[in-house]
This record gives sequence, structure tokens and C-alpha cells, in this order.
Amino acid sequence: MGDLTHLTISELQAGFRKGDFTPADAVRALEARIQAVDPQIGAFLARDFDSALAAAKKADVSQPLGGVPIGIKDAINVLGEQCTCASKILAGYKAPYDATVIARLKAAGAIPFGRLNLDEFAMGSSTENSAYQITKNPWDPTRIPGGSSGGSAAAVSARMAYATLGSDTGGSIRQPASLCGVVGLKPSYGRVSRYGLVAFASSLDQIGPFARSTRDCASLLSVMAGKDPHDSTSLDLPPEDFTSRMTGDLRGIRLGIPREYFVDGMDPRVRAKVEEAIKTCETLGAELVEVSLPHTEYAIGVYYIIATAEASANLARFDGVRYGHRAKNPTDLLDHYRRSREEGFGSEVKRRIILGTYVLSSGYYDAYYLRAQKVRTLIRQDFTRAFETVDALVCPTSPDLAFKIGERVNDPLRMYLADIFTIAANLAGICGISVPCGLVEEKGTSLPVGLQFLGKPLDESRLLGIADAYEQAGAKEILAQIP
Ligand code: GLN
Repeated sequence: MGDLTHLTISELQAGFRKGDFTPADAVRALEARIQAVDPQIGAFLARDFDSALAAAKKADVSQPLGGVPIGIKDAINVLGEQCTCASKILAGYKAPYDATVIARLKAAGAIPFGRLNLDEFAMGSSTENSAYQITKNPWDPTRIPGGSSGGSAAAVSARMAYATLGSDTGGSIRQPASLCGVVGLKPSYGRVSRYGLVAFASSLDQIGPFARSTRDCASLLSVMAGKDPHDSTSLDLPPEDFTSRMTGDLRGIRLGIPREYFVDGMDPRVRAKVEEAIKTCETLGAELVEVSLPHTEYAIGVYYIIATAEASANLARFDGVRYGHRAKNPTDLLDHYRRSREEGFGSEVKRRIILGTYVLSSGYYDAYYLRAQKVRTLIRQDFTRAFETVDALVCPTSPDLAFKIGERVNDPLRMYLADIFTIAANLAGICGISVPCGLVEEKGTSLPVGLQFLGKPLDESRLLGIADAYEQAGAKEILAQIP
């Protein structure tokens, strides 16, 4: 049977259907791998092999994802399981219902399995903001896996999961995918229901998959996408097979290279790998066109106004009454709220709530929040204009390789810069994917580099077709070297 943890979902399913092995074998393989490796990596906050095994034994492998275990970021509700958002304020909280994505995965036969670490409330780029543990990068455990969905990326990279779910508000799927050498997809705003995802910034959040192939991400998206009456921002679109445009070449595709995404200050080794990958796209038939996204330099500033403003409103519900942590012996109601929140939230979350409250306060609203909304429109228009001449954009996912644990924790601004190439896509609502494009030698270890493709809103089929063509030509070897 061999070691099943190396397989992609499509390979796993082929094996199930031929009878080479069963879903229970696949769960047992993960169990052994997690027990051997997770003590060093720290991707999981919780896992329950018995219930996964019980579900695997009942699985119907003829279903679209029959018997496939999928790891879940600990910010997405799965009925009866913990959902802590890696925050002390939600310690002990158990989800009373399934998020819509989970209900859809279960209906397709998948087995949601395990709770994966993240930055508290998905705020961060390194998973160091978790209140529980630091997740390490499987390529070099002295380094961060990226964030906020660091546990989801590391689990796939270290072969402790075939695929996982994460959420992306400013890069939290694509950036950790890039730093861990796996594939990560952020769908267009409105493509996937967020019902049951703990909200961070509601005009930006999307749920998406991590996997070891673009094709696997596409299969997961086909199951997860669609209108949901519980999320009014989900769009009513006909079901789609997102693998339908995987032709293996890029003939007839015009790829835009945004000038502003190749900046001084990015790691020159990252830049070299990305430029090499873009050449590969050309040999696959793509026509390369230089484009400009002139408002790129404002994206981080705009994001940290809008995202914090929305977070300050969304996190108001954690008041010590309804969920999780509750302060002991309050003197009155105000003391109860104050101390529950003071004790429950970590420092980055507090920083965001304070910033968000400030930019929304009367007197500052016009100067910050309203102005940020106007610049957001300009950023969106940059993309609309670029997409008039090109089918998709190609650029780096992250300006750097995975950095050392502890290196940026005391420098929030430097940490925020890790998302410089991913944030604008969320502000514009477009779709994006990160695919591995190279390995860089760094003091005796190899570290992965990610290539990002950005597509028009709701153009996931084409985006996935492009990423798959590149992956077949340029990324296969890296994906095969997963540690
Ligand atoms: N790193 C960004 C932040 O800290 C994005 C996080 C995310 O996408 N959830 O807000």
C-alpha cells in the first residue's frame, strides 16, 4: 500500500475506487504521521482520530469527496467541535452548528478532521499571535509557516492532511501557502458562504482550500461554492466544475505583470524565482504584458483602516456573556465586560480593536474610514482597468521567504508588510491563488517560494486552469519534495 500521506486527493480517490486502500487506511496514515510529526510542528489545536475513523468506515467513495479527510482552521464552526479562533476568549467554546462550507463538504462525503492553529482571530502573518502555540514551518522548524492560516498550510506541507480549509482576509491563505510550499486558493468575494466562519472583516473575508495540487483546490471549491441564504453576500451562480479549463497550456492567455509588484526591498532570490516562473508561463504559450496598478502603495494603509474598523464591530460580540471566557466576580456590568475582554483578547487583537474604534470615531471617520473607502474604490478600479487588457495577473505571493520565529513579533509594521502583494486582491474582491515556484537554499535548508496568479472576479475556472498549467510544468517537482 505504501505511505498514503504523499498522495493528492485525486490520487487518494483513485485508490479508494480501485479498492487499493480504504478511507479508514487514509485516516490511519494521517494519525501515524500526525503522532510522529506534529509534536515538532504544532499545526493542530485539537484532533479526534476515533470520530474520523468512524466516519471513514461509513464513507461512500462514489461521492464527490467520499472518505476524504479535510483539516479545518479553528475559526470555522464544525458541529460539536471546539472553535477557539486561537483565542483565550473562546476557550472551551463548542460549535452549535456546521458552517455552510462544512455542511457542503459533509454532504459530498468529506470528513472534516482536526482543528488547525491560526493567529488569534486570523489577525497576523506568522501564526505567532495564537494564544495557544506557535506553529513551525515544516521546511525549517526555526521559521514561521506564515499566517494567519499557518496551521492549515503547515499540516498540508508536512503531510498531516491531504487538504485543509483556511480563510483569507488580506492574504491568510495565499501567504502561508507560499511560505510552506503548497497550493492555496482565495476565491472571489461572494463565491463561498462565510456562514459559520468567525467574522474578522466582513467585506474582505473568504474561505478557501489548501492542497498539494491546483486540481484538488478546484475539486474542493466545486463543492464549497454557491448561494447560501444564511450569507447574503454569497452570490447566486450556477454550479461549476472548476477543473473544466485545465488544458495544460497557456496558449491564448494574456498574463499581466504588475510593475508595482516587483519592488526594491523584496528578497532578490524570491524575485529571481518568480521571474523564472513567468518565463515558464511564456514557454507554455502565454503572452506577457506589463501592466500598472498605480494605487498599490496605498493598499496596506487602506486595509489596516477598513479591516480594523470591521473587526472592532465584529468582535464586540465577545462580551463574556454569550461565548467563552468570563471574568470572575465582576463588581458591575461594565467591570464584567472590561475584564472579560481584557483577560480574553491578546495584544494584537486589542491593537486592532483600538485602531478600528479610533478610525470610526466621530471626528476621525471622514479623515480615515471614509477616505480609505474612496481609495479602496481606486484600488478596485486599477484591477478593472488591468483586466480590460489581460486575462490574469502573475506576481510574487510574498516579498520574502519564511522568516525566523520571533524576528518580527515586536515590529507590527514590518509584520504588516508581509501581505503587501496579497491585500489588494481582498480589497478588490478578485480571486487569487499561490502555487509553489521554486526553492531557495538558505543556510543548509531549502525554503519554498510562491507564485501568485490573480483573476477577474468570479473567473476562478480560468484562474485554476492557468495555475494548473503552470503547476504541471513548473511546480510538480517542488510539490513532490514536500518534507
Ligand atoms: N496578515 C493580515 C492581517 O493580519 C491578513 C490576515 C488574514 O488574511 N486573515 O490582518
